[in-house]
Amino acid sequence: MLKEADYVIIGGGSAGCAIASRLSEDHGNTVILIKAGGNGRGWKVDMPAGSVFLVGHEPSDWRYLAEPDPTLNGRAIRWAGGRMLGGGSAINAQLYIRGLRSDFDGWEAGGCAGWGFDAVLPFFKKAEGFDGANPPPSHGLNGKLAVSRPRTTHPLLKNFTQGFQELGLPYLEDYCAGDQFGVFRALATQRRGQRCSAAKAYLEPAMKRANLHIITGAFAQRLTGADGRIAGVEIAQGGEISQITARREVILSAGAIASPALLLRSGIGAGEALQRLGIVVRHDLHGVGRNLQEHPAILLNRFVDVPTYNSQMSLYHQIRMGLQYLISKRGPLTSLGGQGVAFAKTRSDLSDPDVQYLFSGATYDLDAEGKAIMDARPGVLISVIVCRPYSRGKIGIGDAGAQAMPVISHRTYEDPRDMETMMAGCRLGERLFETAAFRSHVTGRYSPERPLESDQEWEAFIRRKTLYAWHPSGTCKMGVGPQAVVDPSLKLRGMAGLRVADASIMPNLISANTNATCIMIGEKAADLIRQEARA
Ligand SMILES: Cc1cc2nc3c(=O)[nH]c(=O)nc-3n(C[C@H](O)[C@H](O)[C@H](O)COP(=O)(O)OP(=O)(O)OC[C@H]3O[C@@H](n4cnc5c(N)ncnc54)[C@H](O)[C@@H]3O)c2cc1C
Repeated sequence: MLKEADYVIIGGGSAGCAIASRLSEDHGNTVILIKAGGNGRGWKVDMPAGSVFLVGHEPSDWRYLAEPDPTLNGRAIRWAGGRMLGGGSAINAQLYIRGLRSDFDGWEAGGCAGWGFDAVLPFFKKAEGFDGANPPPSHGLNGKLAVSRPRTTHPLLKNFTQGFQELGLPYLEDYCAGDQFGVFRALATQRRGQRCSAAKAYLEPAMKRANLHIITGAFAQRLTGADGRIAGVEIAQGGEISQITARREVILSAGAIASPALLLRSGIGAGEALQRLGIVVRHDLHGVGRNLQEHPAILLNRFVDVPTYNSQMSLYHQIRMGLQYLISKRGPLTSLGGQGVAFAKTRSDLSDPDVQYLFSGATYDLDAEGKAIMDARPGVLISVIVCRPYSRGKIGIGDAGAQAMPVISHRTYEDPRDMETMMAGCRLGERLFETAAFRSHVTGRYSPERPLESDQEWEAFIRRKTLYAWHPSGTCKMGVGPQAVVDPSLKLRGMAGLRVADASIMPNLISANTNATCIMIGEKAADLIRQEARA
């Protein structure tokens, strides 16, 4: 195993894969990518619907267990996190989306020079290789990440888009140019009916490079170094502990939950809290693990009069769908979780949308422990998501152990504005089922079981049923000021030798699903590093 390289990247997820690939394009660089889980290959990863076998299962999902959330009736929720090569992109729902112009312009206005929408758009485009006819104008054509129109959609998708148009939303042909207010059909990170994870996009073509070394099944325990400089990382692999050294830089890309935990294990974080755990403080940096943000989601479910995927679970249907997928890479097994998307404003005075809706051609509800219960009757669901939550949580660690796991503390509705937005968003979502486009297909209610009228009824339902869209972010905030962990060039504030590049650096969570943005962050990080090396 190579133990020294110019660049050492910790975490081979959405951002890490992009960085490893781009840095190893320069043959003069040696690059080591350290990755905790397996190689992220196999039919469950390739087949779009394979997510159901990956999310919630230990080899592919970290299944981080959060502390009980008092704003969710004390429920302790498992937070999904991709564990294999490809990270979140190897298990996610494959919806491709970028966010609002104002999300990124807000980052720039908050002190992140070079991160406004016009500055990051070239990196979104550089990442993307649109695969299909007539690409919308905002898309990239020559990048590594395949983006395409899904091959199979549910017949009621058109009723979703028509219904939201009845409710006043415009139909968007190109939703990736910075304006998402409206309703549209989602694009997928897929190539010809198969998932395109960041590992598949970026690493598979780079695997043969002699200067790229990928170490899988290795857990990064602590950062090493002295005198204000990070010099490498200590890893545990197969019961052995080794030191990996970076001649130039370490790049931390372990995701918004694991990146701050690794910094804390290394003595980088709020000094008092580290001392309480008996950890020697190497750098007192208060913001590490703070500013945690996540998109809360509520499912609104209805039974309908046309077959949906959950009513087609018999052996006959499974064999039929399996054969269709094997032979033609088409059919329901290639479909996305969120085939249709809408962004709406719950108040007329808002300049930007504050709720997102995702249409799914299947229905399920959650039991008291948050497990999905499928109903055999045909049904659809609309996920209602608060786009820009105000509530903030934090990531800590529970002890001083070399492999101390992250402790997630989040109060999802601590800020009452998030509950208000969710309630208004749910009420608007319920109206979709009453539109002329939709109502004739609705045969009954699944969840909520009966119409909810008062704020109290809605609030009780929301606290009982909230789950997440799986977009944790913000815990190594980029910017200026006391909470900032990295500067706009992604360098750790106050210590040399380390950059952070993943979902953790977002100062504010974008108003959309986060995979494309994490890959953009990886592309931009690699560009910053290469430019600096050339200077
Ligand atoms: C179930 C699910 C569905 C989602 N659906 C969508 C979607 O449809 N569209 C969308 O845009 N976004 C979606 N997302 C979000 C998106 O996939 C993530 O935001 C994105 O993948 C995060 O990228 P990242 O680079 O920050 O970290 P990750 O991709 O999470 O990568 C971090 C990597 O670091 C590794 N790691 C962690 N700790 C260590 C350690 N100590 N040592 C070594 N390696 C370590 C992990 O195993 C992982 O491979 C979804 C996420 C999930 C979990």
